[in-house]
Amino acid sequence: MRLLIVSNRLPIVTVEEEGQLLFREGAGGLVSGISAYLDSLRGSSFTGPQYRWIGWPGVAVDDPAQQALVRETLAGFHAHPVFLSDRSMDQFYHGFCNKTIWPLFHYFPSYAVCEESFYAHYRCVNRIFCEAVAPLVQPGDVVWIHDYHLMLLPHLLRRQRPDATIGFFLHIPFPSFEIFRLLPKAWRAELLEGLLGADLIGFHTHDYTQHFLHSVLRVLGHEHNMGRILLPNHLAKVDTFPMGVDFEKFQAAAGRVAALVAHPSPLTRAETAGAGDPAPATSEAPLKMILSVDRLDYTKGILNRLQGYELFLEQNPHWRKKAVLVLVVVPSRIGVDQYQEIKRQIDELVGKINGKFGSVGWTPVLYQYRYLPFEPLVSLYASSHVALVTPLRDGMNLVAKEYLASRTDGTGVLIVSEMTGASKELAEAISVNPNSVAEIAAALEMALEMPEPEQIRRNEIMQDRLRRYDVIRWADDFLCQLGEVKAEQERLQARLLDPVARRKLLQQLGQAGHGTIFLDYDGTLVSFADNPKDVRPTQDLLALLQTLSQGPSLDVILISGRDKDTMDDWFGGLDVALVAEHGAWIKPRNRTWRQARPLGNDWKPDLLPILQTYADRLGGAFVEEKQYSVAWHYRRADPELASACVKELVDDLVSFTANIDVQVQQGHKVVEVRCGGINKGAAAMSFLPKDTADFLLAIGDDWTDEDLFRILPGSACSIRVGNRHSCAKFSLPSHREVLDLLREIRVAQSQACVR
Ligand code: UDP
Repeated sequence: MRLLIVSNRLPIVTVEEEGQLLFREGAGGLVSGISAYLDSLRGSSFTGPQYRWIGWPGVAVDDPAQQALVRETLAGFHAHPVFLSDRSMDQFYHGFCNKTIWPLFHYFPSYAVCEESFYAHYRCVNRIFCEAVAPLVQPGDVVWIHDYHLMLLPHLLRRQRPDATIGFFLHIPFPSFEIFRLLPKAWRAELLEGLLGADLIGFHTHDYTQHFLHSVLRVLGHEHNMGRILLPNHLAKVDTFPMGVDFEKFQAAAGRVAALVAHPSPLTRAETAGAGDPAPATSEAPLKMILSVDRLDYTKGILNRLQGYELFLEQNPHWRKKAVLVLVVVPSRIGVDQYQEIKRQIDELVGKINGKFGSVGWTPVLYQYRYLPFEPLVSLYASSHVALVTPLRDGMNLVAKEYLASRTDGTGVLIVSEMTGASKELAEAISVNPNSVAEIAAALEMALEMPEPEQIRRNEIMQDRLRRYDVIRWADDFLCQLGEVKAEQERLQARLLDPVARRKLLQQLGQAGHGTIFLDYDGTLVSFADNPKDVRPTQDLLALLQTLSQGPSLDVILISGRDKDTMDDWFGGLDVALVAEHGAWIKPRNRTWRQARPLGNDWKPDLLPILQTYADRLGGAFVEEKQYSVAWHYRRADPELASACVKELVDDLVSFTANIDVQVQQGHKVVEVRCGGINKGAAAMSFLPKDTADFLLAIGDDWTDEDLFRILPGSACSIRVGNRHSCAKFSLPSHREVLDLLREIRVAQSQACVR
């Protein structure tokens, strides 16, 4: 078993310097998180060459000889490069990823660019990734795809490797439907279908998971049950996995810092201070350090933070010269207009605050525009009294967790924006709305004045959680659940009418002297349409049914919820028996219609207005009146509104019909009210062969067919269309496979006749 990790970038970055290709270790939360997980697996089945990382190497390499060199070098690091041209990278990464998805998913719709060529390249790059990954997948491998750059990949890969185990994790927020729907219709549907190609789709928070499920319902119409979505070809699960940090690594590093501070060598003081040593203004009490560390990004709320600090200094003169804000801004996405503008504004605001409040010996903001390696960063975490983390929106925010993990003595105060994923787990931190400068200022005051025992009390709870659910547990949890989903799928698939079962079925037919086949119509022989009238049988289908039933050895019974006039209109010319309205009407072969039993429909005038009122309330819903039943269809209605409306309607109908001999049942986007005691099972009884040696087959797709499956003798074969729990013996994915089977039966039958 191997783990194939797929992400936009590889953990080893290839750079070109003076015509030479150099290889460096990459950084970032994903790389360090997965690396920690892989390290933890030493000695288990994923170790050594048992994992591969697939992604863009960091540079465009066009020359085949150089590509070979890169491939060979990276192979030594378990990495496999996916080469992309500069133009692709520009349109895909700088374009669709960073100018469309990033702003939109972080609730900056006004920054989101909607450009066809960006999306075209996004699709193209996802396909290139698929071509790179598919040949590497071996039986038993686990493919784990990461982040918003590759949302189409799960589906593309599934098409090429239907049995592969595929997980997907989104590291940024999944926005609410009202934001997601701003994408053009075709894109949003394709993105969701892309993600649903995975067996397990993970998000950082419960909110993102719900937003995704909601969008799937609204855009694709798929409902879920406890995060499980039954798709035509597989079961996909959606769940929450809040990414953690390598807690012990931060603790250990912070411990080393503490040891150095306790016994400083002449050199270590400057080294451990990292971003600058906040030298005290006077020889009195040392300055209290407030730490801010982010990539330069408009989502991070760096300006709001500075404004909050400015207001804090204004409102709290006694804190001047006693506190300092260490502001680390990591260069990111240089060249993007919005980023340069923010950088300019930050520079300006830092200058303004330092000019306004600063004095000889005290600079209120110590500003560093650079990337900090691990050790200096931990040293800053360890020496800061307060961490000020105020993104306007952030999928998780690891800095907040890393700060807490680095507090070896349990002191320190975390101020965290409620717009971060991390805030959902860190309830003991001081929570702020980053849009409110006043809240940030008040939080700073509270943080700086919080007594140490209170700091320790809060941090202990949060550290406990972070220690338990660290990044290793996060990855482990995700991969275990992926395995569980696969096992669940296998349980469902176990009943799939595979080639062996199919052959056996045809053999039985050949051996039996006579056979009976019950066939449901909608969803079994044809797919569903918004309007039930739109699915007339094609000439091909009619011809297939006719040849099946013409031979002397096979009886075909079409057993449907449709009204008898429609059944007559569509199938009246065939040599088949018909059952209409779920069994209310029966028409044996070459005979006339008869009622299954005396039925009344005097309840209809009372119920119709109720159904009609609900249909009027819900756009797209409509009432279909049959002789002894009424159907309320909502296939065309807004799925979310419909699910609430259906519950109310069923509730109303059940209480209204408590003393009437009718039954209320829910089917595929339909609520049906019909006379009591009428069902397909009861209707089928009169067609069951007397001879137990006869071949007997029933195929249907919904709950009304379950009544039929239930009354069949043990020797009969029953097939349910779709991946649902059923008392049928086998399942087939869709009506297409049913038609294939019927064609095979026709061939087998004609061969038997020739013999
Ligand atoms: N980081 C770093 N050096 C720096 C600043 C940040 O190594 O100078 C790391 C930090 O340790 C964290 C990551 O960058 O792991 C930032 O992750 P976060 O989730 O906070 O934000 P992102 O940049 O992923 O949006």
